[in-house]
Amino acid sequence: MQFDDIGVRNLPAAGLRTRAITLMWKLGEAAFAEVDTFAWVQRWQISRQWYVHNYRDRRFNALIACRLCTATGRGNAGKPCGECDGTGRVNLLEPPVRRPEQSSGGRP
Ligand SMILES: [Zn+2]
Repeated sequence: MQFDDIGVRNLPAAGLRTRAITLMWKLGEAAFAEVDTFAWVQRWQISRQWYVHNYRDRRFNALIACRLCTATGRGNAGKPCGECDGTGRVNLLEPPVRRPEQSSGGRP
């Protein structure tokens, strides 16, 4: 049995495994460094598990289904929905675009 200088049991196999994991992690950091930096600058959400890096633009969290057309994009008579312009979703970060109302032809 091997012990280190403070008396902790030292298993060569465990040390090799730890070094291999550390090396793989550092290789992953080096491989994704440029992309991670770009994502960080863009303020994207970065989640990492081993060699898989997922990036998500937080602005997607601001998109919700249009309540007026129930995310179909179609309003009455098959026309595009006026609330979401036919996309079926509304961006909470952008103010709604209001079109000028149709003139009734009467008094102002
Ligand atoms: Zn809509």
